[in-house]
Amino acid sequence: MTIYQNLIAGEWIGSDATKNINPSDTNEVVGLYADGSAEDTKNAIAAAKAAFPSWSRSGIWERHVILKKAGDEIMARKDELGALLAREEGKTLPEAIGETIRASQIFEFFAGEVLRLAGETIPSVRPNIGVEITRDPLGVIGIITPWNFPIAIPAWKIAPALCYGNTIVFKPAELVPACSWAIVDILHRAGLPKGVLNLVMGKGSVVGQAMLDSPDVAGITFTGSTGTGKRVAAASLEHNRKFQLEMGGKNPMVVLDDADLNVAVEAAANSGFFSTGQRCTASSRLIVTEGIHDKFVAALTAKLETLIVDNAMKSGTHIGPVVDEKQLKTDTDYIEIGKKEGAKLAFGGEVLKRDTPGFYLQPTLFTEATNQMRISREEIFGPVVSVIRVKDYEEALATANDTPFGLSSGIATTSLKHATHFKRNAEAGMVMVNLPTAGVDFHVPFGGRKGSSYGPREQGKYAAEFYTSVKTSYTLA
Ligand code: NDP
Repeated sequence: MTIYQNLIAGEWIGSDATKNINPSDTNEVVGLYADGSAEDTKNAIAAAKAAFPSWSRSGIWERHVILKKAGDEIMARKDELGALLAREEGKTLPEAIGETIRASQIFEFFAGEVLRLAGETIPSVRPNIGVEITRDPLGVIGIITPWNFPIAIPAWKIAPALCYGNTIVFKPAELVPACSWAIVDILHRAGLPKGVLNLVMGKGSVVGQAMLDSPDVAGITFTGSTGTGKRVAAASLEHNRKFQLEMGGKNPMVVLDDADLNVAVEAAANSGFFSTGQRCTASSRLIVTEGIHDKFVAALTAKLETLIVDNAMKSGTHIGPVVDEKQLKTDTDYIEIGKKEGAKLAFGGEVLKRDTPGFYLQPTLFTEATNQMRISREEIFGPVVSVIRVKDYEEALATANDTPFGLSSGIATTSLKHATHFKRNAEAGMVMVNLPTAGVDFHVPFGGRKGSSYGPREQGKYAAEFYTSVKTSYTLA
């Protein structure tokens, strides 16, 4: 079997490899992917550092052409790359193709954005002096990504890093290297100069750690768990380096008595269970007022009965497998914790067998949960959702905000008054009204508050805040 190698200083290298296994069919090896070392990582950082002076001064048209070519090729290959994604991560084929299209759109967006780079000139408060405010690229950017969006998250970090003139060392999650390899290959063939984009696949404890320990990495953009995020923060402070963290969530969706029942049920089913609940923006707490509670639970349970859990590549599958055995154990452990805490298992909870061996879990709904239970406070990152009954809107809002996280927060209501009040008072980076808490646009800011995020927002024009450093120049006329 071919080994998909690391790209360091424009060369494909590496002979040790790790198997990429399909979670829908553990007999299938999706591919063999290089297992990089700390030495490889150091070489990649040195290559990115050497490439920086020239790339940071490159013309915006050169950058535009490369970003555009990448976006166009990803779109042209959306079915093939979507299938690769579904096979390595386990989201359903339509979801995986949707994510691939989004990656393409992100490259197209930054291909446009690079042509709009601008600064400001403003008068000084002193006579005969002009002031210019410009943005410089940071230097070598370390990109560390999680397994749950194998193509979209790499795209939303690589595209702006290149757009603003940075060079890159990129380490994808060990579980899902295939889509990352594919987009690096696309960018390499699109004409990126040697060393501008380096790919080092391998273990977080080896490759990731070597990035954290390097004084030559000027910025790290990280998406992943809170625990690893804290390591990135501590190491970055040590090196006085800029860093950006996107971490977990425990996103609430409030359902008020006046909600449209169908809208509320569709939004809850989508954001709680689709993509196997493995989205940082998934609704894992449904906070429901008394008047609609029983009707809502009955309708949501009826909806869950219709959802098909099966191989991600099978037509008709609504929910693919959990990503791996470790995550499946985490999910089933939390299901046991929920039962012991006294929540009522209203639906699901069983590990399933299908034609192909994989990590299949029923969508699982707990009712009679409280907001203090561990299943309501800790991120599970699987298709496990709790329903919390509350008296009224005021209690619902207080419960929604009573969490260490603050990524996305939703409300289902037909009341303009409550929707407006909720948008103002939800302690989250993103607020959704009558929509799933998951599912966002590619051209607007993405990110959260409290324990969910640290540093500037990602995506859209707000990405410039992380990938550049502002410079103020004064000139005597
Ligand atoms: P992890 O934190 O385990 O891994 C994230 C990345 O960090 C991986 O590439 C991992 O490598 C790497 N890593 C692990 N150890 C180190 C280390 N010592 N130094 C540097 N890098 C390291 O998260 P998961 O991949 O399990 O992703 C799931 C988590 O991501 C969930 O908590 C989820 O909420 C969060 N997430 C947040 C999003 C957001 O935008 N807020 C979006 C998507 C996910 P390796 O794979 O080799 O372990």
